[in-house]
Amino acid sequence: MTTNEAEFAAARGVIPGGVNSPVRAYASVGGTPRFIASASGARVTDVEGRSYVDLVGSWGPALLGHAHPEVVAAVQGAAARGLSFGAPTSGEVELAAVVLDRLAEHARPAAERVRLVSTGTEATMTAIRLTRGATGRDLVVKFSGHYHGHSDGLLAEAGSGLATQALPASSGVPAAIAAQTIVLPYNDLDAVRAAFAAHPGQIAAVITEAAGANAGVLVPDPGFNAALAALTRAEGALLVLDEVLTGFRVGPAGWWGLEVSSGVDWAPDLLTFGKVIGGGMPLAALAGRAEIMDQLAPLGPVYQAGTLSGNPLAVAAGLATLRLADADVYRTINDAARVVADAVEAEFAAIGQPIVVSRAGSLFSLAFREGPVRDYDDARDQESWRYRALFASTLEAGVSLPPSVFEAWFLSAAHGEDEVNLVLEALPRAVRAAAAARPGGE
Ligand code: PLP
Repeated sequence: MTTNEAEFAAARGVIPGGVNSPVRAYASVGGTPRFIASASGARVTDVEGRSYVDLVGSWGPALLGHAHPEVVAAVQGAAARGLSFGAPTSGEVELAAVVLDRLAEHARPAAERVRLVSTGTEATMTAIRLTRGATGRDLVVKFSGHYHGHSDGLLAEAGSGLATQALPASSGVPAAIAAQTIVLPYNDLDAVRAAFAAHPGQIAAVITEAAGANAGVLVPDPGFNAALAALTRAEGALLVLDEVLTGFRVGPAGWWGLEVSSGVDWAPDLLTFGKVIGGGMPLAALAGRAEIMDQLAPLGPVYQAGTLSGNPLAVAAGLATLRLADADVYRTINDAARVVADAVEAEFAAIGQPIVVSRAGSLFSLAFREGPVRDYDDARDQESWRYRALFASTLEAGVSLPPSVFEAWFLSAAHGEDEVNLVLEALPRAVRAAAAARPGGE
């Protein structure tokens, strides 16, 4: 038994499935999850001392790479001053201001208040509660294949984690709660119009990933998000733009910032952030106009709270990360992602294996089918079993890809020439293995 196998066996004895978040279990790719002992820059090192170029990036937070010295120093400095106070701190105010400033500077002012929470799940759950409180309506529209965390009402057809386990939705969600969520196909404005027509005056909010990245990458059609903003406004509902994954990753003001700076002016009512905003620590946020956000307690009647909300260590990591995330960082990530995504496309093309690489800024994923992939049905209709062989071969070569075809690949500013070259060198063999794979094969 290898050390990873022994660790996994021990883990399964005390933790359900041996993991604290399902996709980590390698269920769809097979094999033994690597137990990570340390990480630095673009690499993770497992308990056997083997180092891998990491394209998981903690599922998004590691924008600068792992353990950036300035981020670690900021956390250490904060830790020395105390771990948690349950009282306001100036760091929280600073971080909220940095978030608002980045939106205003790189897109346009769209939010006036920020509430810090600990996870993306809390951010979207609170945003939804707020839209219900603000509108006095109950129904919520979400898109199939979009993941907004694991709160009850948002779990239906929620993409990667569930898709990897081949589950349409979670059990344990009462039918009465599921009935408050209308699930529609992504990129289908007619379906949204029809939902508003079928439920007049009852829909509180539409929630959408700014760009879908949890069923593989699903790029919004040009103008789709702006049209959602116009439609919700016309119907007296609110638009929640979930930038937990894309926020501060695909650009300094997230996916919304990219759309606005490309000349299409629109704004959501609420934005949610997570991952990069905490720099690898548990921190997330929701933001919006004061008239909506001030309905949160203690000013308003919509309750939300958290013992560790705005935790000083997490705030220090988030502030350090956002301060370091300048134009050079985004250029480096974009360039590295382009090189790897282009190479994936080229290697498969060279052997005549049909795939489609979907890209949203520096985020990309591949699907084993012809394009386009516009919605969850498209994403699921592929030879996903081929990914197992691609994954195993790259892992053997020292490259750690996301352990599911339904996840985006994450690069970081620490992915330099050496790391990118290692990925490129691993690809030809891995691509041949994927092409030669058979359904259900090892
Ligand atoms: N929203 C989106 C778009 C996400 O990708 C995720 C997590 O992957 C979440 C919300 C939930 O965030 P967390 O895992 O921090 O609860």
